[in-house]
Amino acid sequence: MDDYGVPLGESERAFRDEVRAFLDRAMVDFADRRTRSSLDGMREWQRRLHEAGLATVGWPVEFGGRAASAVEQLVFATEMARAGAPEPINRSAINQLGPTIIQWGTPEQQAYSLPRILSGEDVWCQGFSEPDAGSDLASLRTRAVVDGDDLVVNGQKIWTSKAHYANRIYILVRTDPDAPKHDGITYLLVDLHSPGIDIRPIRQIAGSAEFSEVFFSDVRVPLANVVGPMHQGWRVANSTLGYERVGQSRTHRIERRLGMVVRLAAETSVDGVPRIADPRVRTRLVEFAARVEALRFIASRATAAGVLGRAPGPEASLAKLLTSEVDQEMATFGLDLAGRAGVLVTGSPGAAKGGAVAQGYLVMRAATLGAGTSEIQRNVIGEKLLGLPRSDG
Ligand SMILES: Cc1cc2nc3c(=O)[nH]c(=O)nc-3n(C[C@H](O)[C@H](O)[C@H](O)COP(=O)(O)OP(=O)(O)OC[C@H]3O[C@@H](n4cnc5c(N)ncnc54)[C@H](O)[C@@H]3O)c2cc1C
Repeated sequence: MDDYGVPLGESERAFRDEVRAFLDRAMVDFADRRTRSSLDGMREWQRRLHEAGLATVGWPVEFGGRAASAVEQLVFATEMARAGAPEPINRSAINQLGPTIIQWGTPEQQAYSLPRILSGEDVWCQGFSEPDAGSDLASLRTRAVVDGDDLVVNGQKIWTSKAHYANRIYILVRTDPDAPKHDGITYLLVDLHSPGIDIRPIRQIAGSAEFSEVFFSDVRVPLANVVGPMHQGWRVANSTLGYERVGQSRTHRIERRLGMVVRLAAETSVDGVPRIADPRVRTRLVEFAARVEALRFIASRATAAGVLGRAPGPEASLAKLLTSEVDQEMATFGLDLAGRAGVLVTGSPGAAKGGAVAQGYLVMRAATLGAGTSEIQRNVIGEKLLGLPRSDG
């Protein structure tokens, strides 16, 4: 079984050995946490993965992937989590935009964009949400009008993660304002350095500014950059959102956080008694461990749908909902375990885990909002998996 919960065949064992050998070599340079989480570190990590043919294992072979089976993907995710490997800088494009271009893009878009996603040459951000279009994304109002061989874009996006360092953005624009709201939307690839784009970072509760407002004023984008049919971008966007939920449900992060709360329970004590000796603490830890273990399988089933050539279905909502909620609960439990030292942020003397406990708690507030809120995932699960009546009547 080898810890994966499933027996490995010969080729899967060979794949595991290849991944382990790569990690043994490559992780030597990423032992330091700051290197791992810095932009340069993430960029360099993606370069190493790409060189080793491991930037994406799930994509089809003809587009630079390995067409990895669900079990191989589980092996890959488990080994990466175990080694504490960093995120590649373009993880979201590898998980979301790449598969969307594979599914909907023209051969020219595929030939140009996919290798640049894998090498990290292009770093992408997602411009879907607008001030009045979040959960109800189809209400978006950013306009694009055809002018010669271009579309001319005007409007505003918000909560655009990574816009402050990305060089490309994929956006949804309204191209037919007279059509019913789901039918007049187009999906567009845009150079973020185009004239007329203004990026204004938004500071978050944890202190950093990882997303931005992005304003478009008469930005010209070639019609050749439309992904999928004109006015049918809603269907294309739904592919991206499905892949995004699968990506959000990867268990990398929750496995790491589980390790952190177990260590915290072992290292902290009350009246000289380690927290981990308290049966209530042990019960919570065992519950978390069971949920994390179950999620590894739910996530690999959602991933497998993509490998089998099916777009991710409602199981992606289930995986995203459960992963974000257990992650948030573990971060809150970490704060409880650490006591007063837990609320001290990085830079404060005595901060638990150098401030990582407080940081984890604050950052995790967003987990149940980004990539669709928990309420929206519950609506999808209710309607599509349980067959309940639609929430809007
Ligand atoms: C960390 C983070 C990163 C993000 N990154 C990006 C990004 O890169 N690109 C991008 O485009 N967007 C991004 N977003 C935006 C994200 O997709 C939206 O925040 C999310 O879709 C919710 O939209 P909203 O914020 O407008 O909230 P609203 O839609 O206004 O929702 C407000 C509240 O009402 C509830 N609600 C709304 N409709 C319903 C309903 N039908 N049934 C039940 N409850 C409902 C919601 O659950 C929520 O609690 C990011 C968000 C976060 C937190």
